[in-house]
Amino acid sequence: MSFSDFHGNADVVHRLRDMLAHDRLPHAVVLSGVQGSGKYTLALMLAQALNCLHPKQTGGLPDFCGQCANCTRIAQASDFSARFEEAVEAREGLRETDKKETRLFVQTHPDVLIIPPDPPQMMIKVDQVRRVIETIYYRPAEGKERVYIFTDSAFMKEAANSLLKVLEEPPEFATIILLTENPGELLPTIRSRAMILPLRALPPDEIESYLARQHPEWKAPQRALVARLSEGAVGRARSFDLAAYVAARAGALTILKSSLQGGEHSELFKVTESYRPGAEGRAKTEELIRTLYSLLRDLMFLASSTPELVRNTDIMGDLKKLADSADLDWIAFASDRLAEVERGMRRNLLRSLSLDAFAASLERAS
Ligand SMILES: [Zn+2]
Repeated sequence: MSFSDFHGNADVVHRLRDMLAHDRLPHAVVLSGVQGSGKYTLALMLAQALNCLHPKQTGGLPDFCGQCANCTRIAQASDFSARFEEAVEAREGLRETDKKETRLFVQTHPDVLIIPPDPPQMMIKVDQVRRVIETIYYRPAEGKERVYIFTDSAFMKEAANSLLKVLEEPPEFATIILLTENPGELLPTIRSRAMILPLRALPPDEIESYLARQHPEWKAPQRALVARLSEGAVGRARSFDLAAYVAARAGALTILKSSLQGGEHSELFKVTESYRPGAEGRAKTEELIRTLYSLLRDLMFLASSTPELVRNTDIMGDLKKLADSADLDWIAFASDRLAEVERGMRRNLLRSLSLDAFAASLERAS
């Protein structure tokens, strides 16, 4: 691994490396971008570059080796969701009294502390920031720089205020990296003490060429579809479950076809019947609802003569046929009904029942 493995946003990566080269990296950096834009990956790369035992130069700028003890241990944190789950499970295994006092961290290297939002509230808590304060003023033990990565910007008020105090007087050997989907969530006083670097969405063709290397088994129309659905976020494109999406979309298409074109109901019932309560049924239904929204949005693009914005490009023929009988009013009506189904799901109504009702109410309207 090296900086060249980071896909997209070359200007941001270049800027960071240029600051490393001149020893001018600020003590607080905010990396902002949507989920899957690469914030966490880039933060870990930065932690590696700051601590690499055999740093190298590529393209005339600082890089990390990816192989030394520091690089490899930091890289063990790269599967964030797996490490996070492990930390949650470890806490679950504690005695009740210890559980309450234990805050969540991900740490694979003594000088790199990763601070995730703490469940069940999924917010950064003051005890987590306290751990930062307790350690940040000690020189790094095995690396060269203490690095703290906050993976979310949802701070409890007291936690944000404590962090602010650290940012007012950070030690020279520490770097704090804050990851956020929306920098506006951070206190203005925190923002003003940090350098904010936005990771932008990549154009679909850039994601397509990335997918051609990551998923050579996918055909070109499939790559084009995933590139559009992942909305410019490489991480989303990489982990996109194409098979699950296509299966859910087939169900969504049947529901819309049956509502708009009438006819065979047996197909529709086959679809709605396959959605059952329980955790698995719930995930499946949520995927179906997401794909229904995605199709309705495409129908809206067709109805408003902007076909170039359609995302489900691989089924353009089906969409055009549906668009012949779906005007903007119907699409708005269907979106409202769908929102009702979502609300029903939150109240835990039987899934198949609310899906049946959804399909039936659309039919009456068309
Ligand atoms: Zn290294």
